[in-house]
Amino acid sequence: MSTFPARAVVDLDAIAGNVRHLATLAPASQVMAVVKADAYGHGLVPSALAAQAGGATWLGVAQLAEALTLRASGVTGRILTWIYSPGAPLESALAAGLDLSVGAPWALTEVVAAARASGRTARVHLKVDTGLARGGMFLEDWSEVLADALRAQADGVIEVVGVWSHLASAEDVTSPITQAQLDVFVEAIARAEAGGAHLEVRHLANSAATLVNPAMHFDLVRPGLAVFGLSPVPGRTPADLGLTPAMRLEAEIMLVKRAAAGQGVSYGHTYTTTEDTLLADVPLGYADGIPRHASGTGPFDVGGRRVRIAGRVCMDQVVLDLGPDATARAGDVAVLFGPGTDGEPTAQDWAEAAGTISYEIVTRLGSRVPRVHVGTAGRPVAELARERAW
Ligand SMILES: *Cc1c(COP(=O)(O)O)cnc(C)c1O
Repeated sequence: MSTFPARAVVDLDAIAGNVRHLATLAPASQVMAVVKADAYGHGLVPSALAAQAGGATWLGVAQLAEALTLRASGVTGRILTWIYSPGAPLESALAAGLDLSVGAPWALTEVVAAARASGRTARVHLKVDTGLARGGMFLEDWSEVLADALRAQADGVIEVVGVWSHLASAEDVTSPITQAQLDVFVEAIARAEAGGAHLEVRHLANSAATLVNPAMHFDLVRPGLAVFGLSPVPGRTPADLGLTPAMRLEAEIMLVKRAAAGQGVSYGHTYTTTEDTLLADVPLGYADGIPRHASGTGPFDVGGRRVRIAGRVCMDQVVLDLGPDATARAGDVAVLFGPGTDGEPTAQDWAEAAGTISYEIVTRLGSRVPRVHVGTAGRPVAELARERAW
């Protein structure tokens, strides 16, 4: 038993299986598993290795620091990173063999300088802003940066290996926004190829587009959420989409006690018991990523019974009203969410309870909550052998 009375149990075989499934949906494309934000809260390195075991030939992370952590942990294969600011240690990035996104003129200048200084050819993915109005260059600036990039390529300093972009409403296949973004993307690629680029990978699709919009697949798809078995498509469950949620969040109840009818519960007494009942104290709170917005609504499974948080979420704890005839005891397991296959709530249920999306539920999970990895996918043979020996 770990000293922390709660844990996120992460099924690495589910991660590998989800990647395998996504690969079958995009049979002509490579899969880049996006493992930013500590693999959506699932644990960066074990999740990355499981995704590779499932067939991901690329890994994608937002922050340069995350990419360097992967390499420092011995993770091989292609890794793309797309968030760094002026003055970032790009020579370290090149030494680590990372692929770099270039989404602004200054970024090209700095990548070229780092490549010249280190004597290594930088692999660059030029990012076009097709309409999200976030990262990347609008078409107005595209041709100029493209010309500069191709000149640096001719000098052998960089290699333009990719053109890429990101969708605003990928889950909505019929959205005119998606069609307009596709048109801009195709135009950006045409200009790059007309300028002499030999692109290895053109990529646009996130999870939603990988799942529901084959026209967006191009040479490589970049699913994140779906790798972890959650659905980005409103109204469709993971099971509908052939996915298996990889995380189960659970905690040991630390205290149960009887309370009389009329007892106000937790800060501000926003909940009051209506009858003589059994209260349970669960040792997870907003410091652990339990949304305070789920006060009064966040669902739990306790011994097969569905209950909701009684009153406000505290920093380290929540209180549940288990009902008058409950028999739970301290030490019993309360499940916050899991795949849902045993009747427990899902991350989607929590998202709805807190007025957010399942992405936020898993990524906000606090760093003090241990991640316990189960399954074998991507785990070093030595580690598995050691475990069997115990
Ligand atoms: C996060 C992210 C993805 C993955 O998005 P999902 O919706 O989780 O599949 C892909 N590409 C970029 C640029 C991202 O920032």
